[in-house]
Amino acid sequence: MNDFQKALDITTESLRKLSETGSKARGSRESLRRLAAARPAPAAAPKPVAPKPAQHATPVPATLPPGAPGLEVFPTSGRTKEERIEQLRAAVEPCTKCPQLARTRTQTVFGVGNIDAQIMFVGEAPGADEDLQGEPFVGKAGQLLTKIIEAMKLKRADVFIANVLKCRPDMPAGASGNRRPTATEMQTCLPYLRAQIEAIKPTVLVALGAVAMEGLLGTVEPMSRLRGRWHEFQGIPLMATYHPAYLLRNQSLSEKRKVWEDMLMVMERVGLAISEKQRGYFLK
Ligand code: URA
Repeated sequence: MNDFQKALDITTESLRKLSETGSKARGSRESLRRLAAARPAPAAAPKPVAPKPAQHATPVPATLPPGAPGLEVFPTSGRTKEERIEQLRAAVEPCTKCPQLARTRTQTVFGVGNIDAQIMFVGEAPGADEDLQGEPFVGKAGQLLTKIIEAMKLKRADVFIANVLKCRPDMPAGASGNRRPTATEMQTCLPYLRAQIEAIKPTVLVALGAVAMEGLLGTVEPMSRLRGRWHEFQGIPLMATYHPAYLLRNQSLSEKRKVWEDMLMVMERVGLAISEKQRGYFLK
């Protein structure tokens, strides 16, 4: 952890304790100046990614709207992809950028799969099962994602699977279920995902659910308006589709077909063979 992060964590923790005791925070201009002075030099600009034409891509706005995720990428210095991924894993594992999540998680959930994958799936955040097992998408929704991947005639080990958030969002003591990550939590964690994507360089990204899309692009729109067309993230074509948990709640053939049509577009984009039988899945 660098000096700036340490200083920030200590400050955040102190402010949290003060707010718990109802005290007012006191700070001098000098302490703020010292904190700002500890900020590390900005990382070198990321290597430009050759623009890939994205069909029907949503144009990137010239200025980011308020609340849109920043463009920060967690810096890695490894020479190879493997080294960069392992550096990232080592940085994520002890992360305390969100002190509340760090206190309540069992472990961070980095991501799993083939670092040379053409297809990278991105979900919102680990749930209870993922927090316990340290792997994304292993609960009920994850089992459905595995079936979708297998319907594409791929294995989980052929793709890479990660989340915007690397920690399970904390829940009130004794509460079951999962809560959606906040915009701040997603923005705080996004530099790790950006660095994962920059290292892996998948041909295509697939965002699972509207919350993942919000985390990636800052767009707050229903999935019915986002799915079925190409967006772009870090110069990489990005398909949006429903989260598998949505399909568990809504088992109608028509909703399954929508997700499947999104996956057919992904398969076409990466050049996977598609049989007539696959083209007809979930039509009747
Ligand atoms: N939902 C997600 O978005 N990610 C997981 O890892 C599991 C469930």
